[in-house]
Amino acid sequence: MAVDGAAGTQHAGDAVAGRSPAAPAPWHVTGRELYERAFALNPTPLLVLDGSGFVVEVNDAFCALVGHDRATLLGPGGGQVLGLAERGPDDLRQLGDSPAGSGARPVRWRRDDGSTVTTRVAATFFELPGVPDGCWLLAARDTSGEDDLVEQLTYQAFHDPLTGLANRVLFEDRLGHALARATRAGGGCGAVFLLDLDDFKGVNDTLGHHVGDELLVALADRLRLQTRVSDTLCRFGGDEFLLLVEDLESPHDVDDVAARLMSSFEDPFEVGGTSVIQQASLGIVPWSTGNEDPTSLFARADTAMYEAKRLGKGRHVVFDPGVHERAVQRFELAQELRGALAAGELSMHFQPLVELATGRVEGFEALMRWAHPTRATVPPDVFIAIAEESDLIFELGAFALREATRRAMGWTAVEHGRSLYVSVNLSTRQLYDPNLVRTVEEALTLSGLPPSRLVLEVTETAALGDLEAANQTMQRLVQLGATIAIDDFGIGYSSLSYLSLIYPKIIKIDQSLVRGCPGDPDRLVLLEGVVSLGHGLGAKVVAEGIENAEHLACVRAVGCDVGQGYLFSPAVPAGDVAAALHRVEEELRRGRH
Ligand code: C2E
Ligand code: MG
Ligand code: MG
Repeated sequence: MAVDGAAGTQHAGDAVAGRSPAAPAPWHVTGRELYERAFALNPTPLLVLDGSGFVVEVNDAFCALVGHDRATLLGPGGGQVLGLAERGPDDLRQLGDSPAGSGARPVRWRRDDGSTVTTRVAATFFELPGVPDGCWLLAARDTSGEDDLVEQLTYQAFHDPLTGLANRVLFEDRLGHALARATRAGGGCGAVFLLDLDDFKGVNDTLGHHVGDELLVALADRLRLQTRVSDTLCRFGGDEFLLLVEDLESPHDVDDVAARLMSSFEDPFEVGGTSVIQQASLGIVPWSTGNEDPTSLFARADTAMYEAKRLGKGRHVVFDPGVHERAVQRFELAQELRGALAAGELSMHFQPLVELATGRVEGFEALMRWAHPTRATVPPDVFIAIAEESDLIFELGAFALREATRRAMGWTAVEHGRSLYVSVNLSTRQLYDPNLVRTVEEALTLSGLPPSRLVLEVTETAALGDLEAANQTMQRLVQLGATIAIDDFGIGYSSLSYLSLIYPKIIKIDQSLVRGCPGDPDRLVLLEGVVSLGHGLGAKVVAEGIENAEHLACVRAVGCDVGQGYLFSPAVPAGDVAAALHRVEEELRRGRH
């Protein structure tokens, strides 16, 4: 140790020791005493065994670790007490073979209370006089806590923290094993079920994410009850669940499993102090050979699930090539539709709306047409539904509004003092679009059409979503000066409370109600009821789908105010509006209808 000679100061360590390190130790200990104490008090649990597994010596830390006292362990059967009886000399040799430190092997010891403690043990062999086969010094490290942690981390890596269900990683692993097993066995039926909650966003948005989480947990509990231990139930993502069923008797059994899964949605969920009705769409892919790859199984389950959504949600669809074919066609149509707008293939046609009492045309409904360059006519309900699957509906909707209002401005010349209105359809998704009011305003400003000449048709089913949001949008549209009409009335789910919220100025009775009337007195009574309901709400009632004189007689008899249908005129191109108007009125004047 260097001493700063000039200043004569000692280094800090020497100051603590209070002596010169060069001086001899002032005490004398024999090696034996020292090593005995160092062994006994060593904080590392130490154990000396002979080559046959008899305990030669243990230290205090080891006794504390296993909860036995030294006398028991050194006594006869000490090795057995520790569960060492199962370990022969080979085992000990193996322990000894592990390189010191890092190579420590896991060893479990039996404790006095019957439990076990897991350790990592490093072993060293040494010769000891009197012990014929030599001894093993085992140094143990308690790893129970670490093992718990490893177990916990392993659990976390394979499970969804919210619901405790398997996660995607575990599911994919199990699916891989299931397919491999089926391949080895030369076949075997199984299926993947993909469940996606319908409109779950609404729950999160209106009741908050914590209530959404509560619902997911409650649902996971219900789904668990519907599955067997051998099935793998997984939360795949936000509101998507997967079920792997391996040993089906036949692919037809999937319907039973589907029915059980779907029964989880029959009762409302009591969450966040309220009762929530939640539905789900289910896509199913059965397999009967193992020669499948998980990625395409997922893709097919997804396709089937989307088909279930498209068919109206709350149902299950089993994948078949037809489902795939339709999905491909829709995808292609969606691609083409995107280009159609830019290519000028979309246009608005107009169908006259006739005031039944006077026989005068009072407005036109704007209906979109797609002049597809190669395909036969694609009807609007088909391509509108496709557009609704993506944000394309907003572009199409804006186009319809701009084009219809622009064309309606051109009707001034044929109006002869009256004020014709144009009635534009809004899709449900548009009604929930925060930009809708601005889009309508822009169309009115651009065209110069007075808002009083614009009618906006919304369908009854719009009421199934967030009623409050839809209602607010409609109020703002009314404030702009536009008129709201309820379209396809009588076939959807509209509740009377919905109607009383909106107070629509116009109710359009669905064609199917009109068409069923002639010759069916019950239908006529129904139609009459709907008309008086509309009138009771102060609305004008329009009858759609008047195709012949009988239809017309019926709707007149029940007091409909306005008629629309092929009997008067189909929808005509913008350039033919004036001619159609004159023709319809002329025919009515002549009493031909
Ligand atoms: P809608 O709004 O109920 O329109 C009335 C539909 O009935 C039109 O079909 C019309 O051509 C048809 N129609 C009229 N009179 C008769 C008749 O006497 N008999 C029969 N069988 N049908 C008649 P279209 O043009 O094929 O439109 C179908 C649906 O597509 C519309 O039903 C509407 O929901 C939707 N649609 C059309 N254009 C648009 C649009 O620009 N935007 C939105 N969002 N939807 C549109
Ligand atoms: Mg309509
Ligand atoms: Mg309609």
